[in-house]
Amino acid sequence: MEYISEIRALLASPKDIIITSHRNPDGDALGASLALYHYLIQSGHQVQILFPSDYPDFFDWMPDIKRILDFDNSPDECKVIAERAQIAFYLDFNSIDRIDKLGELLDTLNMRKIMIDHHLYPEPAAEFIISDTTASSTCEMIFDFICALGDRKAINRTIGDCLYTGIVTDTGSFKYSTSPKLFRIVSELLELGVDDYELQDLIANNLNEKQLRLLGHCLDNRMEILPEFKTGIISLTKEDYATFDIQRGDTEGIVNYLLKLREIQVAAFFMEQPTIVKMSFRSKGDFSVHELARKHFKGGGHKNASGGSSFQSLSATLKRFKGLLPEYANELNH
Ligand code: 5GP
Ligand code: MN
Repeated sequence: MEYISEIRALLASPKDIIITSHRNPDGDALGASLALYHYLIQSGHQVQILFPSDYPDFFDWMPDIKRILDFDNSPDECKVIAERAQIAFYLDFNSIDRIDKLGELLDTLNMRKIMIDHHLYPEPAAEFIISDTTASSTCEMIFDFICALGDRKAINRTIGDCLYTGIVTDTGSFKYSTSPKLFRIVSELLELGVDDYELQDLIANNLNEKQLRLLGHCLDNRMEILPEFKTGIISLTKEDYATFDIQRGDTEGIVNYLLKLREIQVAAFFMEQPTIVKMSFRSKGDFSVHELARKHFKGGGHKNASGGSSFQSLSATLKRFKGLLPEYANELNH
């Protein structure tokens, strides 16, 4: 692994370390951060996880998640901790704007910065960039990272629970980006005592009634299918946000339901938020939503799962998106 001997030397004596990951952290961002946190604490370092924004409540069960601080809620505390840190780990994101104001702060601070990430086209935001765009998840990379440091034996059940969570989240429960190597890692985690049934249950069966009704509303009233472009769209308006009292995490996973349609290759989910329209894109097979998100919606991510945003109104954004589809018609219909 690139830079590993330099990083091993850096971690050879106790350090003051911060770990951060992207806004609206998902299971991979949380799993990777908490796994690395537990590993570094065990190794004698002082460690604090700082996120740009809070995490969804349904991850409350993750080991030590309540110790995480976020910049939205505790900017002053985050600043003090960041200012004294010697090392920062940037996990599961590839450009500094993914961590908002926390990124602006960290950019001004002089510390050793290590990025570990699996998104396409990492930006030079850290001194050491460990990028593996073939990895299923950042959690898979954290497993590899600890092994590369020569510490495979330090991976215990707690770390395993965290890593398994990110792997399950980012592979959609072993549907995408799997590999023989990933299954070998997972079997090692199960041997450590990770309870796959229990964790899959905590991760997948976590909706409350309101969230399931919101899904019903999306599918019944907010879904549009464009068969000529093999594209499905779901859009949520500001009024939907008010009616369903939509909170952080409530819309997680809805986009994936469009992929259940056999003929659909592209799924697009538009969320009308107070100042922006946030988008989630998914695709099947060769079609790259990454290119679409990057080129037209200031976004990025992976080939089959990307996100972006727009400062136009919801209707203007939808119109623009639909207007782009003819450009991709050949690719979608080949
Ligand atoms: P989701 O649709 O689940 O929010 O995100 C799908 C993937 O795209 C994730 O890997 C996420 O990190 C990435 N992503 C989501 N929104 C953005 C964005 O606005 N910019 C970039 N660069 N990546 C994004
Ligand atoms: Mn990830």
